[in-house]
Amino acid sequence: MRVAVLPGDGIGPEITREAVNLLEEIVRLFQRNIEIQYGQIGGAAIDEEGTPLPKATLQLCRTSDAVLLGAVGGPKWDGQPGHLRPEAGLLALRKELGLYANLRPITVFAGLEGASPLKGELLQDVDMVIVRELTGGLYFGTPKERRRSGQEWEAVDTLHYTEAEIERILRLGFEMARQRRRLLTSVDKANVLETSRLWRETAERLALEYPDVTLNHLLVDNAAMQLIKCPSRFDVIVTENMFGDILSDEAAMITGSIGMLPSASLSETGPGLYEPIHGSAPDIAGQNKANPLAMFLSVAMMLRQTAGWAREADAIQSAIESVLAEGWRTEDLGEPGTARLTTSEMGAKVREAL
Ligand code: ATP
Ligand code: MG
Repeated sequence: MRVAVLPGDGIGPEITREAVNLLEEIVRLFQRNIEIQYGQIGGAAIDEEGTPLPKATLQLCRTSDAVLLGAVGGPKWDGQPGHLRPEAGLLALRKELGLYANLRPITVFAGLEGASPLKGELLQDVDMVIVRELTGGLYFGTPKERRRSGQEWEAVDTLHYTEAEIERILRLGFEMARQRRRLLTSVDKANVLETSRLWRETAERLALEYPDVTLNHLLVDNAAMQLIKCPSRFDVIVTENMFGDILSDEAAMITGSIGMLPSASLSETGPGLYEPIHGSAPDIAGQNKANPLAMFLSVAMMLRQTAGWAREADAIQSAIESVLAEGWRTEDLGEPGTARLTTSEMGAKVREAL
């Protein structure tokens, strides 16, 4: 497979270096063919080429099987106008690649329960995936504007979804549930929003095609509560763009370890984009102490989803679990008394375990 590797900013290059080392180890151990090519994105691209998404990077991504991204952004570019922000590069890349679905698996790793704000039994059996619609809804609907209304300003955002957009993301939710515990929770606000009523009707219609999957509907406010009250009841959650944005951060915090969670953004036919959910962590950049495990888990997702290499993906996951079980920690995960590894030491440990 051909992988476009975009290290980006902050800790991005540090964790990406280790991810590439891991990929090279996979190539060696499993006799796989993985071709890696680097591209610029974000602040690094602004500095070198004057734009957060150079044409060459977009072209590289388009002609690859998958994109592996570190992180973008940092205080250095904070004062810049919108189009010269690192984040604009990632938004443009998502749009150009048609990445309509964002997948975030939420699992609690054995031995890391202490990092979670939830305690004891609440954390048992937490294993869910949030499937968030990424290209529609309130973030993209028009009109989206600020205008004068008599003496004061008013502003408008538009929540818009077509049935086809809704069906596409719900179908992915059903398919994912089918691969897992066959429980799909569709989250909406159907008591208030018309888009949510169309969403719910579409979910009901699709459910007829998936009799083996149990479909539940939850209102988003209730879903936010249930995530804390009983997180283990969820298997696959599917929802629209803004609800998914909020719920996926909430769910991520249940595990307590931002340095451990991967994500995938998928398109209908083109390459998917794989990245850790955390940002560029400017506060620890360049210190070789970032946790590379979310990035490694993103690599595992990429191998599984893009190439169907389940054995390789499972091997990465087990290697991470065994390193954690042996008590090795990076600083962000460290309880007092545990061994603190640097980014590169953690990378080496995982390769060794592999
Ligand atoms: P963004 O806006 O890009 O999402 P953010 O402001 O939400 O960024 P992060 O960059 O994710 O924030 O960082 C939040 C906190 O978590 C910081 O203190 C950072 O050091 C820490 N952090 C993030 N990722 C990691 C990691 N891989 N290893 C260790 N610490 C991390
Ligand atoms: Mg953030």
